[in-house]
Amino acid sequence: MQKEKLYGKTLNELIAVTKRVSLPGFAAKQMADWLYKKEILSIDEMTNLSKNTRELLSNDYEIGLSAPVNESESSDGTKKYLFKVLNDKYIETAYMPDKERATICVSSQAGCKMGCIFCMTGKQGFQGNLSSNEILNQFRSIPEFKNLTNMVFMGMGEPLDNITEVLKTLDILTNDWGYGWSPTRITVSTVGLVTGIKDFLEKSRCNLAVSLHSPFDEERRKLMPIQRTNTVMEVLDVIRNFEINSQRKISFEYILFKGVNDTPRHIKELARILNGIKCRINIIRFHQIPGSEFHSPDLGTTINFKDALNAKGILTTVRVSRGVDIQAACGLLSTLEQNKPA
Ligand code: SF4
Repeated sequence: MQKEKLYGKTLNELIAVTKRVSLPGFAAKQMADWLYKKEILSIDEMTNLSKNTRELLSNDYEIGLSAPVNESESSDGTKKYLFKVLNDKYIETAYMPDKERATICVSSQAGCKMGCIFCMTGKQGFQGNLSSNEILNQFRSIPEFKNLTNMVFMGMGEPLDNITEVLKTLDILTNDWGYGWSPTRITVSTVGLVTGIKDFLEKSRCNLAVSLHSPFDEERRKLMPIQRTNTVMEVLDVIRNFEINSQRKISFEYILFKGVNDTPRHIKELARILNGIKCRINIIRFHQIPGSEFHSPDLGTTINFKDALNAKGILTTVRVSRGVDIQAACGLLSTLEQNKPA
């Protein structure tokens, strides 16, 4: 029988564990300390618990860390790690060092249901939700763990389609009994699930990024099927009606497709629909995927698009592509081969 994993449990869940093994409630805080501050690898290292208690715990529980099974490194220093999850599935994680910053891009699902047509993960379909253990393990188990300064949920999957486990992960990352990270170091990126965004804004203080890609309904539907049920206008209403604290950043991701969403008409409409929202637009280069009819515009068009949005008063930047040569860049993560049924 598989043992339950302690790593990835919130303080409340650890309190439930203490009850099950007849420990006083305060032992949960001690366990959290061992798991998230002292970084132990085995229950036996929890030396302020009696030997008997440790043995009792070990009957049903394990720490539950697992190292990546493969890695590749880009010429720009980005690394991509392959992790085994859900017993027989695989996901990818990207590590991106950049001067004093080191960002991990984690996956929240194996595959994805959302079907965005420009994304390799979308093409592989959905294989399952990751647990908070499996999400947090990506952070803890890469060799660069100690260097990490930022985390983005922009890997495989739609985080708000797995919101319970994602919120648990954020809880552990940002609470004093956990890693104690500032929520401003963490960004959760969503395709735009209206209910999920409401929940996320209420229950966490982390940054939000919404994939926009077009301000026009018909065009966005073609790129992102989610627009059929969760329109971008509904998403913007939720954001507008939520009191966003000044520390929290709201951004919109915008992949530029040559001749599709890079015209003055788009600039005008973006400025109109985002009016009144304190936000930033991140322009992302489209990374070519097999069978796609899309292309990336040239650098000049990209810069002009950015400048025009800035001139309209919307803070706009162009995100530097990282890890393209190892398929670690935006839209390229895929474990289709590894996750094929045997
Ligand atoms: S872009 Fe994100 S939400 Fe869309 S299919 Fe890819 S992983 Fe899923």
